[in-house]
Amino acid sequence: IERPAPALGGTAASRELFARAKGSLAGGISSSSRLTSTGPHPYPLYMSSGSGARIRDVDGNEYIDYLISYGSAILGHAHPSLTAGLTEVLTRGTMFGTCNVPEVELAELITDMVPCAELVRFANSGSEAVQGAVRAARGHTGRTKILKFEGHYHGWSDTLAVSNRPDETEAGPYGAPRAVPHSPGIPAGVVDDVVVCPWNDPEALHAVLDAHRGEFAAVICEPIVANNACVMPLPGYLERLREAATAHGAVLIFDEVCTGFRTGPGGAQSLFGVRPDIAVYSKALGGGLPIAAFAGVREVMETLASGRVKHGGTYNASPLCATSALITLTALADPAVTRRIEEAGLRIAEAIRRAAHDHRIPCAVQGVGAMFQAVFTPDGAPVHRYRDTFRIHRRRYNTLRHELLRRGVHCNAYGLACWFVPAVVTGDELAQTCEAIDGAFAAMD
Ligand code: PLP
Repeated sequence: IERPAPALGGTAASRELFARAKGSLAGGISSSSRLTSTGPHPYPLYMSSGSGARIRDVDGNEYIDYLISYGSAILGHAHPSLTAGLTEVLTRGTMFGTCNVPEVELAELITDMVPCAELVRFANSGSEAVQGAVRAARGHTGRTKILKFEGHYHGWSDTLAVSNRPDETEAGPYGAPRAVPHSPGIPAGVVDDVVVCPWNDPEALHAVLDAHRGEFAAVICEPIVANNACVMPLPGYLERLREAATAHGAVLIFDEVCTGFRTGPGGAQSLFGVRPDIAVYSKALGGGLPIAAFAGVREVMETLASGRVKHGGTYNASPLCATSALITLTALADPAVTRRIEEAGLRIAEAIRRAAHDHRIPCAVQGVGAMFQAVFTPDGAPVHRYRDTFRIHRRRYNTLRHELLRRGVHCNAYGLACWFVPAVVTGDELAQTCEAIDGAFAAMD
C-alpha cells in the first residue's frame, strides 16, 4: 500500500466486497492477476458498469479506462453495435454445441485480415488457443520441445507457464536461462520440454537452437512483449527469428493475443512484415466476450483438418461469442479505426514523456500507440529484454497508477504490463487524461 488516499471519492464498497469475497472465492479473486496488492488500496476495485471509454466502480467513481479488460473491450464498453447484435443472439439461443453460421463468417474474415491465416480454429481463451497452436506444431513436426523467451507470457496453462517472471536469484545465467515454472503444481516433466532464451539477442537464439538441433517443434514469442514492459523487437530481430525457425524446421508461433487486431487489421505480423506459421488471438478479437483463435498456414493446420491431431471445446465459437467477434473485427478491419486508436495512444505516450521531462523523472515510454508502457529506469532508457527490467523503479509506477486513479484514469496495475487504448476515447477524454498525467507526475517524488 503506497498511500492511504482513495480514488476520486471513497472506495469503501470495494473494500467491503473484497472482505466478503474472501469468504467464498479462493483469495477473494477469480484470476491471480486481479490481486492488485501493489495498487493504492490493499483490495481490488470492483467495477460495476462501463460505457464507451469510461468505467464506474461500485462506489460511483468514474474512470477513463486504459485497461479495457486487458485490451478486450477494444471498441469500448457497451458499444451500441455489440449490444444490438448480441441482444439479437440472446433471443435466438446463445449456444447449440453445433456448427454455426457466425463461426464460418468469422473464420473467413480472419483469413482475409491476417497474412498467415489460411486455416483457423477457435477456442475460448488465449491460454487454450496457445495450447492448440503448440499441439498443432508438435503434431506437424513430430517433435516435443518448445523454445520460449524469458519474460514472455503465453497463458497460465502448464505447457508454457515457464520463466514468465523469474526473479534474479532463480533466473540462471543470461545466455542459458533456467526454465522456471511460474507456479507450484507445474510438473517438472512439462518444464523439461521448454527451453528458455533471452529476447532480442540473435547470438543467444542461435546458440540455443544449435544446442537443441532437431528437437524444437515450435519457437513461440510475443512480437511486442505486452507482458514485459511492452518491449519492442529490435530492428531485424523478427526477421532473424523467422529465418532461424525455418532453418531448424520449427514452427514459428506469434502469440498475438495482445497485438492481434489492435496494432492494425493484420496485427503485429503486418506491422513488422514478418509472417509466422501460426498466430494466436484472443482479447481484441472478442470485443469483450471470451473467444480465441489460432490461425496458420495450411501445411501446419492440415494436421487438424485431417483429424489426425485433436482439438476440442464445448464452447468453441458459440454463436454468441462468434457474433461478438464478427461485429468487432468488422469494425477493426477498417484501417481508419486502428489508426485512430494509434493516434490517441501516441498522444498519451507523448503526454507521459513530456510530464516526465518537465518533472525531471527518468522514464521511457515504449511500445506503439495502441499499447504502451511507462518504465521508470534509472536513466530513462528503454528496456530491450527481460533482465533489464530488474532495474526498473517499480514503486514509481505504482505511484503513477495511484495518482492517476485519484484523477479519474484507470490503467494496468502491473507495471510490466501495458496500457490499452480504446477505439472510442474522445478528444475531451484524451485532454483529461493528459492533464491527469501531468498532475500525477507533479505529485511523484
Ligand atoms: N498470451 C498473451 C500474450 C497474453 O497476454 C495472455 C493473457 O494475458 C495469454 C496468452 C493468455 O490469455 P488468457 O488469459 O485469455 O488465457
